[in-house]
Amino acid sequence: MSQSTKTFKNPRKSGNASAKSQKNSKKGQNNQKKTHKSFYNVSQKDQNQNSNYTKFSGKIFKESSYMPDFIKEVANNDTLCKCMKCQDPETKKTGKIIMVNNIYSHLKSKQHKNNTPSDEDEKLEELLKLLEEKSKDKPNKEQFNEEQDIVNYLHFISFAISHNLSYSQIESLGTYLQKASREKKLGFFKNFSFDEHLMSKITQDCFRPILLQEMRNQLSIAPYSLVINNATFSGDSVCALKVKYLITEWDQNLKENITQIKNKIISLSNLKESSSGLSLKNVIEERLFSSESIKNQFFGLLTTMHLH
Ligand SMILES: [Zn+2]
Repeated sequence: MSQSTKTFKNPRKSGNASAKSQKNSKKGQNNQKKTHKSFYNVSQKDQNQNSNYTKFSGKIFKESSYMPDFIKEVANNDTLCKCMKCQDPETKKTGKIIMVNNIYSHLKSKQHKNNTPSDEDEKLEELLKLLEEKSKDKPNKEQFNEEQDIVNYLHFISFAISHNLSYSQIESLGTYLQKASREKKLGFFKNFSFDEHLMSKITQDCFRPILLQEMRNQLSIAPYSLVINNATFSGDSVCALKVKYLITEWDQNLKENITQIKNKIISLSNLKESSSGLSLKNVIEERLFSSESIKNQFFGLLTTMHLH
């Protein structure tokens, strides 16, 4: 009996379809961005250099009071700005379109220097100095983060493997954390602990009543069999009370109704303590037969005995 139950595997896969679709939509966004930039005739080299586009905000001025005079926002595109001292080669109008990421190289350019009135030369010099200082630590910081990220990533994987998590469990956990991090839902790490006893308490007091109610709801509409599994492990007799039933549920990944066999344990007990038929009956009454509709779906009884 127990062998045949083993073959009934949950047909649902730990789907990461949502993660995949997110990836795709992200790609889509990037493509969109690139199209925008080609529209403004920004060179391919610029696009490749900047995988992280800086957005237009007060921060880009780096506390300079001079730069806001001539670097202005571009409507409908926050990764671009325009220099009101230079002419756009396309439109031949004042306001050369540049990427926010490339402001520094533009300000250093000959074109910009030629378009700056000589009485502003000093201001431009000061501005370039300021931007150079600010940009000095930035690439180092980013590089450090990237290296640190790789180290942290490998730490996470090695931790999971050393705790015997399967590859698919690591994938599920990693994908879950990735999604939660993207949605900024990991703030609880700062304020909550993961103490073993607390986890047990939460499972018992918080999840168990809900899961039990869910099972009861299913058993009040689906015919079920009660399975009593007795097994002996090195002298100790253990008795598992299980219910077995068919349930049809909507599968979000497959987009169709899936009928599956559910095997759920309602009680696990040491037979030394409660070996009598009466105590088994009590467990069944208490855990299972909580309503008439559940009693009515009772279909049959199976018992198995294993000796190990
Ligand atoms: Zn310029």
